[in-house]
Amino acid sequence: MPKQITIIGAGIVGIATACYLRRDGHEVTVVDMNPPGEYCSFGNAGILSPGSCVPQALPGILWKVPGYLADPLGPLTVRWSYLPKAAPWLLRFVANSRLARVEKIADALRPLLKQTFDAYRPLVAHAGVSDLIRQTGYIVVYESENAYRGDALAWQLRRDRGVVMEELDAQAIRHFAPALAKIYPCGLYLPEQGYVANPGRLTQALAAQFQRDGGKILQRKVLAIEIGADGAHALATDAGRLPVETLVICTGVHSNEFSAALGDPVPIEAERGYHVTVSDPGVELPLPVFAPEGKFFVTPMEMGLRIAGQAEFAGIAAEPDYARADILAQHLRRILPEIRTVQGTQWMGRRPSLPDSLPVIGPSRRHRNVYYAFGHGHVGLCGAAPTGRIIADLIAGRRPVIDVSPYRPGRFS
Ligand SMILES: Cc1cc2nc3c(=O)[nH]c(=O)nc-3n(C[C@H](O)[C@H](O)[C@H](O)COP(=O)(O)OP(=O)(O)OC[C@H]3O[C@@H](n4cnc5c(N)ncnc54)[C@H](O)[C@@H]3O)c2cc1C
Repeated sequence: MPKQITIIGAGIVGIATACYLRRDGHEVTVVDMNPPGEYCSFGNAGILSPGSCVPQALPGILWKVPGYLADPLGPLTVRWSYLPKAAPWLLRFVANSRLARVEKIADALRPLLKQTFDAYRPLVAHAGVSDLIRQTGYIVVYESENAYRGDALAWQLRRDRGVVMEELDAQAIRHFAPALAKIYPCGLYLPEQGYVANPGRLTQALAAQFQRDGGKILQRKVLAIEIGADGAHALATDAGRLPVETLVICTGVHSNEFSAALGDPVPIEAERGYHVTVSDPGVELPLPVFAPEGKFFVTPMEMGLRIAGQAEFAGIAAEPDYARADILAQHLRRILPEIRTVQGTQWMGRRPSLPDSLPVIGPSRRHRNVYYAFGHGHVGLCGAAPTGRIIADLIAGRRPVIDVSPYRPGRFS
């Protein structure tokens, strides 16, 4: 039975969800204050990694933090004025780093991410942008054997869940990526992974197809949700009231503003990251490269080479600190010594991160006509299409192909 469904949020999660719901024949409207794909989904590293099932917090994380913070080229920064606000989230984050918990989180993330290529395939084929999805695998490169051994748990967690990987020595790394500096004695090749050659264009292309298929996109800021005894009634927007029948919240880092009002508070934090994209680098990478010591990816996008990474805790509203992007540019110069320039476009995005590294996907506890799909943190591009398919299954009353109980919104209370 077709329903009238309103989605707040036209990032990749909202748009993938809209596409899946429209395929089921529902009347779907997406409301966003920005054009599709212009927020966090615009400038990410583009990685589609069915194997990224390891949470951000691993045993021993607390002892690594001082080193990260002290390193001027390190991957982590906390604005000290923001620390009191971030502290409760950070404490929960550390609490999730116990091994037993980490195993459970990895068990929950792997089935979701494993579906990424399968879930994107019909959407990109229909939108005529299959070329954007590239299943090349990626390589991981370490500057020291010690650092590689230090990450043994993270790789074992992946192996235990069926992620295929092959160890590389210095020569094999050069074979994969001859342009890389000769500073990497060891690494890994993960053949089943891949990337999106332009994440912004992917969201825009899916959104355009959704509209050609009869879906509606309204550019409005949602100010509040009107709630009655039988659920969400309407959206109060900056351009008037919008009645709703079924509502899906896909507002990334802003999602708690709505879910808390609906009785499902979630501890979401803006884990800000940066990119630099160099349009004419003069060197080539045949596949993405991940450098775990600096926690950045370099991805061969259709717009040039993009380096993306960094985790900055400064709140949603703080101005970008492009010194963090300059750090990425310095890394780029160091790992690709022949690069023509590291001047390029700089960007900051806010990962919608939850302290257990799992998204929220599923129905509201209180309101029968409200669903949530947000909080994918570092893997939102990868998790978006599988999430959209799950939401469509839930709304249709079909059993999703995976157990969705680990993503329930009520797990934090
Ligand atoms: C540096 C960096 C690198 C990354 N690399 C990867 C990667 O390689 N692979 C991967 O899988 N993920 C990666 N990510 C994470 C990924 O980008 C995010 O998880 C993903 O984009 C989140 O998508 P979303 O649709 O939930 O949120 P968003 O893209 O942020 O979309 C949310 C939308 O909600 C709208 N909205 C919010 N509030 C309102 C309101 N009140 N009214 C109307 N509209 C509203 C916003 O305008 C926005 O369009 C990276 C992130 C960063 C920062």
